[in-house]
Amino acid sequence: MICLKCFHDKTRIVNSRQNKKYPATWRRHACTRCGHSFTTYEKPVIHLPVLSKENNINNFSIGKLIISIARSFNHDKKAADFYSYDLANTVQDKLLFLQNKHTISAQDIAKITHSTLQSFDQIAALQYAAQHNLITSQRKRRGRPSFYYPENDPGHSSQQ
Ligand SMILES: [Zn+2]
Repeated sequence: MICLKCFHDKTRIVNSRQNKKYPATWRRHACTRCGHSFTTYEKPVIHLPVLSKENNINNFSIGKLIISIARSFNHDKKAADFYSYDLANTVQDKLLFLQNKHTISAQDIAKITHSTLQSFDQIAALQYAAQHNLITSQRKRRGRPSFYYPENDPGHSSQQ
């Protein structure tokens, strides 16, 4: 890789580490001319056809996902600005494992995004669920909404 500072055409990899959970590698590069060092992350390119509600196939778009995550942070615009991209990347990492297994639906992505948001910000998760029709019932006494996950529904025919 060329040097970020002096554009010399050769840098050495001085350190690298594989992520234990995801197909990603962290590398530290050092320029053989000026000595400048910098970090890169290597990840597979995601190619994931997604089945929409209207039965169209579209390629997975991280841009769309970032926007829909940002929309669930209406209560905290700063968090939307700072975390939407990283949260979308976390979801994308999870989707990498599914890309060769079966046809994935927009609803599957919504479900994975929702569970990712739940471990980060409960309010954002709730807003996201409301925007993506993941809430099916609200028990008035306890006030705890339940979430609709397609695989728990015996009437749901999964796209294999
Ligand atoms: Zn250099």
